[in-house]
Amino acid sequence: MSSFQTSPGMRDILPPESSRWRAFTQVFADVVEAAGYQQLIPPLLEDLGVFTRIGDATDVVTKEMYDFVDKGDRRVALRPEQTASVCRSFAQHRPVTPWKVFYSGPNFRYERPQRGRYRQFDQVGIEVLGVDDPMLDVEVIALAWEFYQQLGLQQVSLIVNSLGEPDDRSRYVEALRTHFAAAGDSLTEQSRTTLGKNPLRVLDSKREPDAPFIESAPQISDFYSDEAAAHFDAVQAGLRALDIPFTLEPKLVRGLDYYRRTIFEFQGGTLDSAQNALGGGGRYDGLVEALGGPATSGIGFALGVDRTLLACDDEGVFAAEPRDLDAFVVDVVGGIEAVKLTAELRQAGFAVDRGYDNRSMKAQMKLANRSNAAVALIIGEDEVANNAVVVKPMRGGDQQTIPRSELIEHLSGNLSQKTGTHD
Ligand code: AMP
Repeated sequence: MSSFQTSPGMRDILPPESSRWRAFTQVFADVVEAAGYQQLIPPLLEDLGVFTRIGDATDVVTKEMYDFVDKGDRRVALRPEQTASVCRSFAQHRPVTPWKVFYSGPNFRYERPQRGRYRQFDQVGIEVLGVDDPMLDVEVIALAWEFYQQLGLQQVSLIVNSLGEPDDRSRYVEALRTHFAAAGDSLTEQSRTTLGKNPLRVLDSKREPDAPFIESAPQISDFYSDEAAAHFDAVQAGLRALDIPFTLEPKLVRGLDYYRRTIFEFQGGTLDSAQNALGGGGRYDGLVEALGGPATSGIGFALGVDRTLLACDDEGVFAAEPRDLDAFVVDVVGGIEAVKLTAELRQAGFAVDRGYDNRSMKAQMKLANRSNAAVALIIGEDEVANNAVVVKPMRGGDQQTIPRSELIEHLSGNLSQKTGTHD
């Protein structure tokens, strides 16, 4: 047994699952690139301050950060999410707006690992900086929706809310503070602590004793300014125009502190309720400014790769499909012929593997079988002498001896060069 194992909450994504991961990000990139988004690849590690600016009332920042002092005495952290990095990048480089970017890659949160919750987990996401138009909110939500459709997921539901303008939100927060404070010790201790920092987050509590006070809490919609109400109405009208089904959820506040106006979450129909959020996002005007840039409106979403793939498993869609091999070369005359033939075929665009170590014909044919290649290409003494190759179909059919000079043409005509697709 190996003496080292992955750390808690960290996983190897092994083949063939790994090819599904790559296909997942490819489908995502295809959907958002077709809408004008370009990829940003921020570093995994940032100045700790980039994340503490997100807010100090979130567990993500206060309890779960992988932060440390590097060899140059800098306080740094592995990113727990990527929106803050995107905003830091915008503030640093000042690109022209609208800046429409997408990202994919791992984040780190020191959480209690369980199914669908890991310490290293991947997200794909988009962010748009510099546009206030509610129709952009609609576009952003619609792209996530389109992506779920492309994966084949049928049981995803969309919930939306608006947190209003910052002033509306402040008045609402005060009303919540008063409401929850009146509950006194009936509220759980954790919620009383949260109340001191950010009353909004008390609405996130899933603890039973808090439920009646959350139920009777004031509603954000009663605090909307005309402007906030108009923005939210426009977003809903846009979603209806695109036939995207959604539910209004006035108690949706989302985990991170920086949201205002539109917020939304996608929930899977098959996962446990604690892990059923597949992704979410919203508007976060103010974050770029907090990171030293100009006042800039922003909106985006992040979708959890790990959890979305669990939902795909549960719904039986988007299966792992590693690339099929076209051919497996079996060389029983020393190996140099296999070196030449595999190189030639790979250059011609075929996916080709081979046997090694000059093993017996039987052993190499076993490998050819296991490789799932469409044909075995066999080279023995006779084939070398005649400058030919035996082509043996692995899924039925007669073997044929083909002159070496005609092999590529023969294979092109006989193999569908289909690579792994996820249609
Ligand atoms: P958040 O950045 O917290 O809004 O999360 C967005 C999405 O990322 C969630 O809906 C999950 O799908 C995923 N996610 C967040 N934290 C984790 C985690 N610890 N493990 C796996 N997925 C996660």
